[in-house]
Order: sequence, then C-alpha cells, then structure tokens
Amino acid sequence: MLGEFDLINKFFNKPVTSANIPLSVGDDCALVKFIEGYNLAITTDTLNEGIHFFKDEDPFFIGYKSLLVNLSDLSAMGAEPIFFTLSLTLEQSDEKFLDLFAKGLFSLADKVHIPLIGGNTTKGPFSITISAYGKVKENQALLRSNAQVGDLIFITGSLGGSGLYVKYKNKELSLDDNIVNICHKEGMSMACRCDFASKLYPLSSCAIDISDGIFGDIKHVMEQSRVGALIDCNLIPYALSLQKAKLDEALKQKIALLSGGDYELLFTCRKEHRDQVLALAKACQVDVTCIGEILEKDLGLVVKNAKSKMNFLGYEHF
Ligand code: ADP
Ligand code: MG
Repeated sequence: MLGEFDLINKFFNKPVTSANIPLSVGDDCALVKFIEGYNLAITTDTLNEGIHFFKDEDPFFIGYKSLLVNLSDLSAMGAEPIFFTLSLTLEQSDEKFLDLFAKGLFSLADKVHIPLIGGNTTKGPFSITISAYGKVKENQALLRSNAQVGDLIFITGSLGGSGLYVKYKNKELSLDDNIVNICHKEGMSMACRCDFASKLYPLSSCAIDISDGIFGDIKHVMEQSRVGALIDCNLIPYALSLQKAKLDEALKQKIALLSGGDYELLFTCRKEHRDQVLALAKACQVDVTCIGEILEKDLGLVVKNAKSKMNFLGYEHF
C-alpha cells in the first residue's frame, strides 16, 4: 500500500507554474502572492476522532488543538497569522459540546488576534478542518529546502508529552494521577511559536514543525535540502510529564523521539548565528535547544546516543 507521502506525490503533487504561486505542495504551507512585498502562507489540517483526539477528550482542548496545529504550520514558514476558516462535520448538534469547543478555539484565536472569517458545517462522522492564513515577507519564508551543511539544528520547547498521554489513553502504560494532570496542563499550554518564528529570518531560513515525530520530520528537511543530519538523542529535552513519569529510560527516549503531536518547531541556523538565535529566543521567552547538525547528504541520518533499537520512521496515516 502507498504511504501517506508517496500517495500525495503520486496523485496530487503537480507542477504549478504561476508566478503568483511561489510554493505549492511539499512544505508546511503553500505561498501565494499577497499585498506588496508579502506572500500569503496557507495551510489546512484535519483532526479526526480516534486519530488526533480521543472520543472522551475535553471539548475545550479539541477546539484549542484544532487551531494550534494549523498555527504550527504557519510558524514553520515564519508567517504571522492573519485569519482562519473552520469546517465542521458533526454527528449531532450538541450545544454543550459546541460551547466548550468554541471557547477552546477562540481562547487561542483571541490570544493571537486572528478572526474566524468563514467555514462550512455539515452532518457526518465527527471531523474538524481548519485552514489558516498568515503573511510572510517575500523571499523570507523558512523553507524545508533551505538547510545547509554545517547548520545547527534547534528545536523549541520539549518533546514526548503528547506521546506519553496517547500511550496512557491507549492503555499501553499506566501513569500516576499527578503525571496525568501534568499531561493535561501540557496539552492546554501547547504554545503557538509564530511570534518567535516570524522573527527568525535571516538568522534561520529553514524550519519544519514537529508533528509526526522528529525523525519523520527531519527527513523531509533532508530530502528537500539534499543533506544529511546528525541528531544527538541525549540533547532532546523531554516534556515535564515524561521527565517525571516512572518509566524505563529507553522507553522515555522512544516516546520523545518517535511519537508525534508535540507541534514544536525544528529550525536550522549557521553556527555563527547561534548566540543571536539564543538571544532572540530569550527575548521571545521561548526555550530552544540545539540537538544536532546538518551533514553532507551521503552521511544520511546519523543518530547518536540511542538507548535502544528504533525504527527511525515518522508517523504516516497510511
Ligand atoms: P503538514 O504535516 O506540515 O501539515 P503534511 O505532511 O500534511 O504537512 O503534507 C505534506 C505536504 O503535502 C503539504 O505541503 C500539504 O499541503 C500537501 N498535501 C497533503 N495532502 C494533500 C492533498 N490531498 N492534496 C494536495 N496536497 C496535499
Ligand atoms: Mg507541518
């Protein structure tokens, strides 16, 4: 069976020649010409019950996360969010659910000052699709294709909180109540990195958001930039819930590296820009960690300090 990305490439990735569309399928957002000197960054993401959230999940959280995952793609282009649309497929019109869902959605929309400008509402199996739009200066978008050999690889925040929660909900492991509470808090404080990301250029010109696990996502950068990459597993910052969970260290590492859903930013920068990147992160109150380096293409993906055998593939829907 075709994998998710082979499927997209085989059937939907067609060449686009319009000068008004500088970037189409293949990056976190497409780019189209916008007002003078700017491109519009456009992304769309669907959330399905059982895949992106659990049936019994807090509706407020579902609303919050639906927008957050889209803003995450805007941040991966260095774009500043400007508005979004919402398409809802609902099994029923449940007012209590919708009230909380809308509160979660707008808590984030209001925080980043973006209006909901339209959408669509239909009946069917529950599913949420948001399209988010942002602006980014021409030739200043952070592209998956811009990594250069010798660049440092940074990530924002920490990894593994979402993966830990998913494993707990799927009964693959048990957690003390206080750790589950931390997981809930982490979910609700998943941060929009757009402000920091929109200031990264020219210190960085390459980014991707970590949605499918770090190895799957760095591979997109490697393919599109035609480079290799070194990741030092000992440098990966773990989410607080994962740090505190009473689990085997090798399992913790697997959860941090292989599970998706953290929606942090991975970006690269020249070594000489390291201090400026750290200063910018501090000014934006964003934690960043250098986790590796871009290598020559022939070296492929080099993973240092793995505590166990891992399958270095990211999450794919197929
Ligand atoms: P992300 O995880 O950053 O949202 P995806 O991994 O979902 O991106 O998709 C990779 C690329 O393929 C993106 O540029 C996206 O716009 C594009 N894409 C995904 N599905 C389709 C589709 N059905 N038709 C056209 N383009 C698609
Ligand atoms: Mg993305």
